[in-house]
Amino acid sequence: MPKSKFEPEITYEGIPASPGIVISQIHVIARGFSAPEVYEVAESEIPREQERFRHALEITKKQLIELQSRLETLSGDAESGIFEAHIMLIEDRAVVDRVMEAIENRWQNAEYAFYAVMQNFLEAMRRIPDPYLRERTADIEDVSQRVLRNFEHDDDVRQQSPEDRHILVAYDLSPSDTASMNRRHVLGFATEQGSVNSHTAILARALGIPAVVGLNGAVIDIKALVPAILDGYTGKLILHPSSATFERYKDLITKKEKVRSALDAMRDIATETLDGHGITVSGNIELIEELPLVKTSGAKGVGLYRTEFLLLNGEEMPNELEQADAYSRVARAMAPHPVIIRTLDAGGDKLPVEPLTDPEPNPFLGWRGIRVSLSRPAMFRDQLRAILRASAEGKVAVMFPLISGLSEVRRSREMLRRCMDELEKEGIPFDPNIPVGAMIEVPSAAVCADFLAPEVDFFSIGTNDLIQYTVAVDRGNPHVADLYRPTHPAVIRLIKRTIDAGKDNGIWTGVCGEMAGDIRLTPLLIGLGVEELSVGPLQVPRVGQAIRSLNHAECSAMAELALKEPRSQGILDLSLDLAKKHYGNLFD
Ligand code: PEP
Ligand code: MG
Repeated sequence: MPKSKFEPEITYEGIPASPGIVISQIHVIARGFSAPEVYEVAESEIPREQERFRHALEITKKQLIELQSRLETLSGDAESGIFEAHIMLIEDRAVVDRVMEAIENRWQNAEYAFYAVMQNFLEAMRRIPDPYLRERTADIEDVSQRVLRNFEHDDDVRQQSPEDRHILVAYDLSPSDTASMNRRHVLGFATEQGSVNSHTAILARALGIPAVVGLNGAVIDIKALVPAILDGYTGKLILHPSSATFERYKDLITKKEKVRSALDAMRDIATETLDGHGITVSGNIELIEELPLVKTSGAKGVGLYRTEFLLLNGEEMPNELEQADAYSRVARAMAPHPVIIRTLDAGGDKLPVEPLTDPEPNPFLGWRGIRVSLSRPAMFRDQLRAILRASAEGKVAVMFPLISGLSEVRRSREMLRRCMDELEKEGIPFDPNIPVGAMIEVPSAAVCADFLAPEVDFFSIGTNDLIQYTVAVDRGNPHVADLYRPTHPAVIRLIKRTIDAGKDNGIWTGVCGEMAGDIRLTPLLIGLGVEELSVGPLQVPRVGQAIRSLNHAECSAMAELALKEPRSQGILDLSLDLAKKHYGNLFD
């Protein structure tokens, strides 16, 4: 793909979110409430454009009616009124007429005409110093986004060919967008929003889709169909690559391919350090579709099954038997290796378990993780019974997310015990000794790990959340991404404290956050005493080889020094030095 004479090479720098290199053409999609693409429609196309607007409104109305009736069932009449207000808004004659006029008189495409009308409306409302009206702007934004998402795109008009293989460029992508991507066409993606630990990025790594996120302000300038290179290793999107750049990337692809096949050849060799210390490497999964990848990666089990991704298939959790079927499939596929099933971790930045009538001011500190399960006992019971059913089909463990203290562990275990009693009475087989773990991802849990350890069978440290809560940095916010430091001394101390509390009580500690897959940090985690690393399937071979190249005693001595080091960078350097000394080739 040599450079065209007239187009200079342009490089956009973002955050590397999922490794891999793609050489292809760009396809841009407009999403969210960022300005949609604007273009002029031909006079003859005006009626069709107006019809597209009416159609988007109709679909939106249908969705809102459905949401409203679900909410009525869940919480009674009172709160379903919010969707009534949304419906009234999209039926508001003043809004509809103004959009129709803009299409007719200004020849604007329907999405843009609608967007412009709503922006004006919002602007006017924001100027009114009335808290009630200000709150209503959130409703308007919400319903406007919904309408924008419901426009059916006409590829002739947009002159794009998303059927061809391409690099997708978008303002933002939700985890469900990522999971439902057509992998034959989308070779990689780049987004303006997002961060390395967002669920979209995690999913991209799990599915092996190269990705760059946090390309601030770039999407608006990027045009469809231009030739490009997406570098998911360094976080670059290069438009109109020069011949030299193109050749350099072709060489890089060959080099990476060589490293990958060398690692594949070693996947069945035990993951033991040079001085004979075994560390389990297991895989994280979100979707059952990832199982073949985990199995071929050489992982010795699933260390984290994020069950909330079952919500992607519908708007609520599947019932007990449907869940049991999914969990049993994973358990049978991985046997004789264990599968750690994490109970629903919804809410916060993740998928909602039900529409919230009253948006939370601080979702990360709100109704998420185990808190949701404990306050929805019927739903929790379905899930625990499903997990127990699967425990008869393979080696299954259960763990609870976002534990912040002892009472949540006790209440969860009590619920599990009741489910066991029920199944026993019903004559349904399950493993009565199913291991029960607590995720350590809230600082209070790490600080009190000595109280929690006697009550569980293992700890799994969720560093993604542990870091964000320890240093008060939103894991998904690109504006503070540089403050999100896995090697912050406070994080390292909390990890150490958790592992020590586990050891004192005879239980093992693993790490299942993204930190576990970062081979710069393998020496540090091993040195601190971690016994299991659960990582994205694509990272398994690399982490395995890192372990085989290290000396446990040397890692422990380094970790001792790291615990005395006050700077994040200093800690990172100590670990990285050891990593480079023993497996520098894995960084190529
Ligand atoms: C974590 O927080 O590190 C973790 C593994 O859970 P999740 O990324 O699903 O929040
Ligand atoms: Mg977490």
